[in-house]
Amino acid sequence: MKFFHHKKWDLNLNELNSFSYYFPPNIVKGRKTLNFILEIIKDKKKIGVMADSFIMKNYYTYLNIQGKNTEKINFNGECSSREFFRLKQIILNKGIDCLVCMGGGKAMDIGKLLKRDINGLFLILVPTSAATCAAVTSVSVVYDENSTYMKTVDSVCADFVIIDYEIFYKLPLAFFSAGIADTIAKYFEISTVKKFLKVNDIYYNIILDLSEKLYIRLKEITYNNWEKIDAAKKEELTDINIFFSGIISLLGRFNITVSAAHTIAHSLTTINHSQKFLHGEYVAFGLFMQENLLKNKKNVKELQNIFIIHDLPIKLSQLNIYKNDINKIFEFYIKLKEKEKIIFPVNDKMVYNQLNKNL
Ligand SMILES: [Zn+2]
Repeated sequence: MKFFHHKKWDLNLNELNSFSYYFPPNIVKGRKTLNFILEIIKDKKKIGVMADSFIMKNYYTYLNIQGKNTEKINFNGECSSREFFRLKQIILNKGIDCLVCMGGGKAMDIGKLLKRDINGLFLILVPTSAATCAAVTSVSVVYDENSTYMKTVDSVCADFVIIDYEIFYKLPLAFFSAGIADTIAKYFEISTVKKFLKVNDIYYNIILDLSEKLYIRLKEITYNNWEKIDAAKKEELTDINIFFSGIISLLGRFNITVSAAHTIAHSLTTINHSQKFLHGEYVAFGLFMQENLLKNKKNVKELQNIFIIHDLPIKLSQLNIYKNDINKIFEFYIKLKEKEKIIFPVNDKMVYNQLNKNL
């Protein structure tokens, strides 16, 4: 199953990336952990702080890096190749040796691509959203200029990830909910792949066990007075959605862990008038479709209960997607499924019909 089992052992350094497990060497988490940033960057000459305009306006002051030679870099919000080259030019022209990226998944993902490409760039990620594990992983999801999914590529881990709970106490619940859907999807997607491939190796067993534990805990948190969730649970959810969910991705680097939930979710991004939903919200719908298609009635019921509490979509209309859009989504799904060699034991016609059922 794993890539290196099929490779000859005549390695060269260029192949190092393909054979490596990456983990961020430093993840700092807790209350007011951003206070450590001055210590972390003390040897750096020029600091670039990259964030979109909303995040810059609302979170820059949390950073507390007065006295350092700092350049604010405005991120246009899209992890696209055009934006990547624009940012890369700025970093090189300004002589930035340390990049601090603040924001959600796309800001994290483009930061990791920049580090991969720019020799010696020290990268600090400061997630401001608990909707994604991107701060911890070593992959980046690339979109086009219109926010349509293009591909998932190997990037690298950050040198430092700073998770400051102060940011998350005030985060709207919708972001936690989206992250919950994304984390839950890991359990169901890994189960599907493992079952269909009939694999029983230690890697699959460990990531499946871990994702199942997270799923059980997320159910408890959901059913236990979700609307009134307290600060301690927000801290725990931040850890689950960012840290533990990310660890599953890192451990499963050489395993196939994606099935229909993510493939369907990515396919929905082809509909332009639906954009600006969170990745995890698309994944919620994709997961609900996946379990329906697999005829896992018990899971469908359970997911429905969870998603209603979180106000996550189980119908396309909740994502501003309507009947006219279905052919385009379906075509995208077929292309993506073939390109990414998705493991999903359901015929395509059924996927088409299910999309129509879930309008
Ligand atoms: Zn995801």
